[in-house]
Amino acid sequence: MEDSNIHKVIEFTKRHNIQSVHLNGHGESTIAPRWTEIAQEFLKSGFHLTITTNLAKKYTSDEIETLAQFEQLDISLETIDLKTLQQLRRKADIRQILHNIHMIRARALELGCPTPRIVWGSIIAAETVEHFPKLVAMAIECRINHWHIQSLTKMDEIEGALNLNPILSLEGEVFLEAVQHLNEALSLARKHQLSFHFQGSMAEDLMAKAREILTSRQSQASCRPGGPKAIRKSVIKADDSCMPADAILYGSGTPKGYTRDCTDPWSFMMLESNQQVSCCCFGQKPLGTLKLGQSIEEVFNAPRANNLRNSLLTGELDSICANCSYRTLVPVDKFHKKISHEFRVTTSLNGNAHAH
Ligand code: SF4
Repeated sequence: MEDSNIHKVIEFTKRHNIQSVHLNGHGESTIAPRWTEIAQEFLKSGFHLTITTNLAKKYTSDEIETLAQFEQLDISLETIDLKTLQQLRRKADIRQILHNIHMIRARALELGCPTPRIVWGSIIAAETVEHFPKLVAMAIECRINHWHIQSLTKMDEIEGALNLNPILSLEGEVFLEAVQHLNEALSLARKHQLSFHFQGSMAEDLMAKAREILTSRQSQASCRPGGPKAIRKSVIKADDSCMPADAILYGSGTPKGYTRDCTDPWSFMMLESNQQVSCCCFGQKPLGTLKLGQSIEEVFNAPRANNLRNSLLTGELDSICANCSYRTLVPVDKFHKKISHEFRVTTSLNGNAHAH
């Protein structure tokens, strides 16, 4: 990223009293050229920094010192199995990752700054879920602060790598076995107070599918003498997962009167190294580019951005938001209250929004 853009972002964030900045080099941030210099620019200006990283490199002492001053490290990790991790995250080694975590924490203690909050982010997929119980046990052992279970965005297949497939593509017993692995990991996390959350509607989607399979299995077995008892046990086990009691179960699309519970177009801004500005990291196209000499405010308030905000306020979503797996569904009136409360915006049900 060019220096002029870094300064534009720093000025913009100061002007709007934004305190947190997330640095992400698409996959591995700490291989980006001059990443420590960029981070230091933000640190000097007093921002709370988060970075997304595999944390699998052999770092220099300067790099460790920079990481020690971050507020949060989001580490992408699905398994502690040496071979699987190498296939999944090209050449990453869990021993190096754990060593780096200890080095960073130790350096933070030496510098007298708070140790960074460490989050493990794991993509849930058909190929990764069986590794979750061991991963969670290691997270607890290493005093990891939070576990974030992320949805899979299917990419082009890479030769020689372990290519992932959606867990929802599994069927029948194989799917239930996968949910069982997940439940084991979640029970362990709960037992040892490791906090966790699911990205978007993944938890509800998994539950909906598990229930569907179990219900169909139950109705088949009820025709056989003595069948339903064993099946009932499985249903209870599936229901005992992490799902909130008031979870709304749904598939893709948006029912009438509902919208996506997404405040990103009001609260989130992503500036990419090609100078494109976005307010969504799921599927919406960038709002504009700073290349055309526009300010960040101009791009952020462009008609496209306002249209996106209005579509969320009315529930009249385009197909990308309607099928977004990052954000759950919420009744439109409840979403209005949330937006009014969090952003001091008055809204009307025709979608007009006025910021104060
Ligand atoms: S696709 Fe729509 S609902 Fe999903 S994160 Fe982007 S803006 Fe939000």
